[in-house]
Amino acid sequence: ALYHGKRQHRGGVSLFSADHHHRIQHEAAIEQALRNADLEAQLSVAFQPIMCMATGKALAFEALARWTHPQLGPVSPADFIPVAERAGLVHRITRILLGKALAEAAHWPEPVGLSFNLSMHDLGSGEDLARLLELIELSGVHPARIDMEITETAVLHDTAQLQRATGQLRGLGCGVSLDDFGTGFSSLSQLLALPLTKIKIDRRFVTGIPDKPTSMKIVRSLLALSRDMELGCVIEGVETREELAVLRELGGNLMQGYLFARPMPAEAVRAWLESAQRA
Ligand code: C2E
Ligand code: CA
Ligand code: CA
Ligand code: CA
Repeated sequence: ALYHGKRQHRGGVSLFSADHHHRIQHEAAIEQALRNADLEAQLSVAFQPIMCMATGKALAFEALARWTHPQLGPVSPADFIPVAERAGLVHRITRILLGKALAEAAHWPEPVGLSFNLSMHDLGSGEDLARLLELIELSGVHPARIDMEITETAVLHDTAQLQRATGQLRGLGCGVSLDDFGTGFSSLSQLLALPLTKIKIDRRFVTGIPDKPTSMKIVRSLLALSRDMELGCVIEGVETREELAVLRELGGNLMQGYLFARPMPAEAVRAWLESAQRA
């Protein structure tokens, strides 16, 4: 919870947030650690299946960054990716993670795809992107098996550059998914501007959906929109059978969430595929 300390300040009262102060310290510690860490050794990738209801099989696995620092312990990507972005360190991290994710995907049975999260910062310069595309070409994983997930952030608003970058990804044969759809302030205009192949409906529209008529209406509309636009649509954060039942009734087909599997270490993927794909 937020703690607001009150401090007398030149005859007035100024509010400061102790939480805010701690967060800044924490961020500084993360940045320091990111700069000095042996990231090649400390970063790993967890994989979570994206399930196709029509086939009952995993369509792809989403790669999710994991970082365990010797002193800080495990640090969530939701914490360290934004810090890395601000510190200009994200490109190096992306290259390490993409390399590791591709090395795993190369072992998976042919049709199973890889979905990989790119930061907007990875798309900000043509050279950075070219180096990522080179990794893909060297990996032997067919680009058609790869989806790049992008999230709109307020940071990068060079639409022309973003169009170029996503166009290059499509040119190579990769899919491009718009992540956390519906949570950004320009999701719909991104549909106009970018050559997308999928949208991913954010978990906040899914949690508790059986009791939330408004969430139901939103998801129904987003599914209709994706169908009209001939885009794939992944529904994220499915945790319960009840949620799944409603989502299927609304016409959802691609699902991801703890109900099917939590993100798992690379070593667990092949065993999971063997047992799950048989069932
Ligand atoms: P995201 O891309 O929206 O990823 C989905 C997040 O939801 C993941 O958290 C995943 O573990 C979690 N999740 C999946 N199913 C469920 C569910 O049923 N219930 C709940 N409560 N959560 C679920 P994670 O792994 O902590 O990643 C957080 C965010 O960090 C990601 O959100 C993404 O924005 C970012 N991220 C993760 N890996 C990378 C990466 O390699 N590169 C970049 N640029 N960002 C990454
Ligand atoms: Ca994602
Ligand atoms: Ca997401
Ligand atoms: Ca998210």
